[in-house]
Amino acid sequence: MNDSTAGGPEPSGPEVHGAEARSPDQKYCSDCGALIRVRAEICPKCGVRQIPLMNALGALAPNGKSKLGAALFGFFLGSFGAHKFYLGQNGWGLIYLLFCWTAIPGIVGIIEAILLVVMSDEDFNRKHGMI
Ligand SMILES: [Zn+2]
Repeated sequence: MNDSTAGGPEPSGPEVHGAEARSPDQKYCSDCGALIRVRAEICPKCGVRQIPLMNALGALAPNGKSKLGAALFGFFLGSFGAHKFYLGQNGWGLIYLLFCWTAIPGIVGIIEAILLVVMSDEDFNRKHGMI
């Protein structure tokens, strides 16, 4: 019995960089590890959109609000209106807070959190992201 089939060329993983010289205006693709232009938005090798490190948790609106942050507040603290306060809708936040002893604000908060997640960044910026 000979079940040793080793001998073919080892597949090289994406973590082979380091050997090639990287110039200051180049970076590694966040997906395939290819050396690409720093300002490239889409990797020419694999076509994957590059995620800026600053915005790894989702895009921020012009006023610094995070869609994902608001959704998380709504999901976990929605019964206290946390996402409403976060988005600057203090009147609504107070209403949620007044009714936090009922189940309603919590349920509505979770629904609003889901709506925030599926909302496009542009819609979020238009509704909540203005300075
Ligand atoms: Zn790539």
